[in-house]
Amino acid sequence: MKVDELLHAWRKIVAGHKPTLSIEITRECPLRCPGCYAYEDGHLGGDINLRQLPDSKGQELIARTLELVDRYKPLHLSIVGGDPLVRYRELEVLLPKLSAKGIHVQVVTSAFRPMALDWAKIPRLTIAVSIDGLQPEHDVRRKPATYDRILKNIVGQQVTVHCTITGQMMKRPGYLAEFVEFWSAQDSVKRIWMSMFTPQRGDFPPERLTGAERAQAVDDLGRISRRHPKLQMHERALAAFLNPPKSPDDCIFAQTTQTFSADFKTQITPCQFGGDPDCSQCGCYASMGLEAIGKHKLAGLLPVSALFQSSLQIGRLVSRST
Ligand code: SF4
Ligand code: SF4
Repeated sequence: MKVDELLHAWRKIVAGHKPTLSIEITRECPLRCPGCYAYEDGHLGGDINLRQLPDSKGQELIARTLELVDRYKPLHLSIVGGDPLVRYRELEVLLPKLSAKGIHVQVVTSAFRPMALDWAKIPRLTIAVSIDGLQPEHDVRRKPATYDRILKNIVGQQVTVHCTITGQMMKRPGYLAEFVEFWSAQDSVKRIWMSMFTPQRGDFPPERLTGAERAQAVDDLGRISRRHPKLQMHERALAAFLNPPKSPDDCIFAQTTQTFSADFKTQITPCQFGGDPDCSQCGCYASMGLEAIGKHKLAGLLPVSALFQSSLQIGRLVSRST
């Protein structure tokens, strides 16, 4: 993030607005990935599941997205789902318009279908493709968005590969290195981000990492990133995986991001995972990145996180008094 963008974000926080917006633009997804938090019963915080929520299509979806963006004027917008490519035609209209507003936009997808080649030229647009490990495991979990289909669909793009590390992956030594090696070698891949599986409190699915597996993953990623520059894992962000925020109140990412679901009314709290996420096990790449920025000391004295927290308090007072 550039200095003027950081200042803009800080001004928004002080004014009581969150600088990052995330929208689940559709309730639909052709995949059924095990461990997908978006379709967990508690995700929306009530009795209703994302698949039951009313959503929009066509001109209505375009107008509602632009209206929300104009209302919150975010610096960064994540378009998630379901799979946003289910609303591919609407995205073709929306993405150039959002870029023209100077917003950084990230579309998070399984790449189950091709994207227009023009998307590669849209400024400030990131296409993040979720890949669940090496081909044998990924293809089982993410059919019909298999390796073969992804490799075909990303030709001509410059995508970001996003992988969520699971307990199953960490049971095989060398797994992460093999994964990064394969995707680093693809011309259509610009960078690679790795998260770790974040469970809900009290849940123990096979995806959950043990403490030892988490430490091993951090160690592996540090070594692999020195050999493969496409793997973008800053040292401080890696350290944050071993010491994640204690609660949503301590989490800069949760405090600076507002997430709306497919009806454009339901807000997902406390963060994009919804429900009751176990912060002590958080492995969200974005949250760890912001923790890393938060630990940076301004003029060698004041940690950025302290500035964020006091700005948030001012922001809450401002929004209460307006
Ligand atoms: S592609 Fe994403 S939204 Fe769809 S089931 Fe898989 S994890 Fe969930
Ligand atoms: S689960 Fe992670 S991203 Fe969510 S509030 Fe907790 S620390 Fe933040």
